[in-house]
Amino acid sequence: MQPRDLSATSPYVPGRGIEEVARDLGLDPTDLIKLSSNENPHGSSPKAVEAVHQQADDGLHVYPKASHTDLTEKLAAKWGVADEQIWVSPGADGAIDYLSRAMLEPGQSVLVPDPGFSYYRMSTRHHHGEINEYELSKADGFEQTADLVLDSYDGERIIHITSPHNPTGSEWTREEIRTLLDEVDDETLVVVDEAYGEYSEEPSSIDLLSEFDNLAVLRTFSKAYGLAGLRIGYAAVPESWADAYARVNTPFAANEVACRAALAALDDDDHVEQSVDSAQWAREYMQENLDAPTFDSAANFVLADVGDASRVAEASQRAGVIIRDCSSFGLPGCVRISCGTREQTKTAVETLNEIVAEVTPT
Ligand SMILES: *Cc1c(COP(=O)(O)O)cnc(C)c1O
Repeated sequence: MQPRDLSATSPYVPGRGIEEVARDLGLDPTDLIKLSSNENPHGSSPKAVEAVHQQADDGLHVYPKASHTDLTEKLAAKWGVADEQIWVSPGADGAIDYLSRAMLEPGQSVLVPDPGFSYYRMSTRHHHGEINEYELSKADGFEQTADLVLDSYDGERIIHITSPHNPTGSEWTREEIRTLLDEVDDETLVVVDEAYGEYSEEPSSIDLLSEFDNLAVLRTFSKAYGLAGLRIGYAAVPESWADAYARVNTPFAANEVACRAALAALDDDDHVEQSVDSAQWAREYMQENLDAPTFDSAANFVLADVGDASRVAEASQRAGVIIRDCSSFGLPGCVRISCGTREQTKTAVETLNEIVAEVTPT
């Protein structure tokens, strides 16, 4: 037999991992710097690591129940919303699925950014939805505005917006988000993806949930909190339909260890603050020192216009610095470089500048 027709679903293309690249190139993994997946170069909070060890000792044989409730309550208190409004999920990706499940009838359409995060499309396809796109323009620095989205809007059931945006780093202002929410149909859900929200100076849209009930906001522990390996995130949704969670969530999908680690990470403001400060430094360093045009970024990465992205990314990898070729995002001229530690970032810039000098015809 065969699966159903999946030809319209493109496989997810992750940033390449250290072990994989080391094997391919016959290099020692410890000689490689991975700046291709926007992970936290400073690792996880020590408090979260301790919680993981503790949970292993306490036992892993029981379904996660209390920890899930505790995490929901803590997040609700953090954001000043009711407990039901926090949909804990396996990564923000899991929350995207929960929202697709809750909202989409087969054949309804979803408006997604191009370039943009590919899981919006995948999740839509999995739930038998159709995809329409709005385009962020390189010439305009990938600026994101309500008008840009509304120009392409045709009554879609869901609109995905990303702020700060992956892979460009551009962001929405509160004013523009408010305009978009005002202008779209009451039956159109606007999903604001704040996976990189901690790195931005714009406020979260979560407080707009008190005014709009066609809004959902995504957050994750994968980036600033440094827990990507544990798969834990959440959506914040309006009170009026928050109870749908009980019908759409995969039972116990947010696991015990992840919930415990997330709870501990929420108590370690220093770790997040240091991670954010470090990313800000790295962002500025790259923007000032890379010999290629870069775009403004409010996230923990910088997009650079290097001309031939696949060639530059490949040469960089051979030289020990793994970065993200953005061809699969529809940007064949650009690479995305995650913010590393100071040392990693300096090495990356030096390496890339040598490669760009060789690859770019003078
Ligand atoms: C990393 C990322 C996510 C979610 O990641 P999870 O690890 O599933 O929490 C969501 N949206 C964007 C734009 C991202 O870059």
